[in-house]
Amino acid sequence: MTALPDRPRWDDHDDLPLPSLDGDATAEVCVVGLGGTGLSCIREALDLGAASVIGIDAVGVAAGAAGRNGGLLLSGTAEYHHDLVRSVGRERAVAITRMTNEQIRRIADEVPEAVRFTGSLRIAASPEELEDCAAQRAQMVADGFACESYAGPEGRGILIPGDAVMHPIRRCRTLAARAMARGARLFGRTRATGIAPGAVRTEHGTIRARHVIVCVDGRLELLVPELAGEVRTARLQMLATAPAPEVSFPHPVSLRFGYDYWQQLPDGCVLFGGGRDKAIDAEWTAISTPSEVVQEYLTHTLRTTLGVHAPITHRWGAAVAYTENHRPLFRDLGDGLQVMGGYCGTGNVVGALLGRAAAQRAFTGRSVIADLFTE
Ligand SMILES: Cc1cc2nc3c(=O)[nH]c(=O)nc-3n(C[C@H](O)[C@H](O)[C@H](O)COP(=O)(O)OP(=O)(O)OC[C@H]3O[C@@H](n4cnc5c(N)ncnc54)[C@H](O)[C@@H]3O)c2cc1C
Repeated sequence: MTALPDRPRWDDHDDLPLPSLDGDATAEVCVVGLGGTGLSCIREALDLGAASVIGIDAVGVAAGAAGRNGGLLLSGTAEYHHDLVRSVGRERAVAITRMTNEQIRRIADEVPEAVRFTGSLRIAASPEELEDCAAQRAQMVADGFACESYAGPEGRGILIPGDAVMHPIRRCRTLAARAMARGARLFGRTRATGIAPGAVRTEHGTIRARHVIVCVDGRLELLVPELAGEVRTARLQMLATAPAPEVSFPHPVSLRFGYDYWQQLPDGCVLFGGGRDKAIDAEWTAISTPSEVVQEYLTHTLRTTLGVHAPITHRWGAAVAYTENHRPLFRDLGDGLQVMGGYCGTGNVVGALLGRAAAQRAFTGRSVIADLFTE
């Protein structure tokens, strides 16, 4: 593996500078984590009239998976629609999938410059997976969602025409800048060291807030240890290439039941991620720097399966969290404390939904989104 710094392709060094919080503070709501989930939560809280909002991040805006992911905005959850129907019932699954589709359009409305509607492909790597693609399509069509059979240079599978891709860091920076312009106080380099109802302890003081909303995906169980049996942190890895005119991927692709995924940017660069199952035990880790085994798999598959020969320019990793049942964790711990995460590798859309749901519950007492995602 060539020695490249652990840096996502999205990072253009144009960070949004945030001050750190060096003492105590008070607000109506304190949001921990300034990824896509936390920033969606803050936006909803401001829309619902929150008088004062503090958001903190151990590093800065989109420092975690929210700024280091594949950029796919996919319909549904980590469970394919037909699997979701089986696990939560048809009515609820349809409502959830519909909501994720609406959330994709909402993200595009919020930051049109960061989103492209490309549709997405799910390609089968085996006859069994092709059968599963057909089952997904049948259920989606029966439930009124657009989904087509697909056969093309990428292989055979299904095309979901309403899906999109985004520039994840650009999206988060835009949301953060807007939140600050609306009066939210956002702090970087401010790590939460303890979470309790009404209080977030940091390395330098205590933030008192009526509502405390924890929006952290990877490493959530380190911050909220009582969730250790419910969410488990894993590393996901990617690489990116220079422009690759030898290939043309108009749609982002997921392959091998989502273990591998890629997209090609308008400038021709290919971003390819996955391979977690190639070192499954080692990838259950809170360390996010890329590993030799997975990067070798990605490099080999890029060259063979994808047919990309362009030089590799970036390699990176980040932490996400998984749940046993593949459903996100969304928990009201009482007295104004809400916690969410565990998106099982697909949190761009669902995270934004749950961030909004937490703000709705805090400021209106109820949330249709929350009802759907609460066990
Ligand atoms: C390589 C990779 C590819 C992926 N591809 C996709 C994809 O294509 N589509 C998709 O939907 N999902 C994808 N995901 C998953 C998705 O990125 C995440 O589920 C989602 O970004 C989670 O966002 P979040 O805001 O909830 O959490 P995070 O991104 O984890 O953000 C949490 C923030 O909290 C901060 N934080 C952590 N601990 C503390 C603390 N103690 N105090 C203060 N701040 C703290 C972190 O610095 C971070 O900025 C991918 C993930 C990875 C790693």
